[in-house]
Amino acid sequence: MMDPRRAPEKLPAQGEKLIVALDVDSADAARAVIADLTGVVDKFKIGLQLFSAAGAIFVREVVERGVRVFLDLKFHDIPNTVSRAGIEAARLGVWMFNVHASGGGEMMRRTAEDVVEFCEKSNLAVPLIIGVTVLTSSNVNTLREIGVEQNVENQVVRLARLTAESGLHGAVASPNEIEAVRNAVNNPIFLIITPGIRPLSATNNDQKRVTTPGDAISKGSDYLVIGRPIVAAPHPRREAVRIMEEMNASRQLPDKNL
Ligand code: C5P
Repeated sequence: MMDPRRAPEKLPAQGEKLIVALDVDSADAARAVIADLTGVVDKFKIGLQLFSAAGAIFVREVVERGVRVFLDLKFHDIPNTVSRAGIEAARLGVWMFNVHASGGGEMMRRTAEDVVEFCEKSNLAVPLIIGVTVLTSSNVNTLREIGVEQNVENQVVRLARLTAESGLHGAVASPNEIEAVRNAVNNPIFLIITPGIRPLSATNNDQKRVTTPGDAISKGSDYLVIGRPIVAAPHPRREAVRIMEEMNASRQLPDKNL
């Protein structure tokens, strides 16, 4: 069960559910996106590309602007290495970071315990720690290639359950798997973060399991991660506003705030 000290106080309200993926190749390009979206979006994801280009120093810079940073480096290594990396993420002041759930229960438990202990000792906010289940660019063929005989949904559910049992705050999954994850995880404030979102007008790029923003909301996504449909749009701010309007207009599930 999740340690209550790590539990988020409540689930986010509709308009707060958008996380924009800063999938660009330099700090300057990222600064331009953040400036364009100021006042509209307050959560940004820094992933492997931007981190490799601009480093931890840029993560700190973005945190210091007062926006929330989801550090999406999908840690997957031996438990000691991942827990140490998690502590460094917490030290940077990120709001959320993630690990690959397929790294196993011990890796996730150690990370959750060590990060909480470090944050309490250092008087730092505990970041939300999220387990990645099956990437939204994967399908059953991808699973077969790596020797997984389950279908995608079963594998997502299995990893989400392990993530919850290991004391993490939530999981990354596609919107199509939200219902199955909610049924499998007996914790009403377990967060489900959904990439693989495409407005009706957009192409799928390399995402194979996709849903529209409105659908993701009505299926009960807690946070929507959207990259190319906003960042690569001719007018990112306009597109972000349009997507948020679509999210707000969508039928909400009954309020789950605790
Ligand atoms: O451009 P797009 O909207 O497809 O971006 C999705 C983002 O979400 C990318 O930064 C990708 O790394 C991330 N992501 C994903 N699937 C996961 C976890 C993260 O697509 N399971």
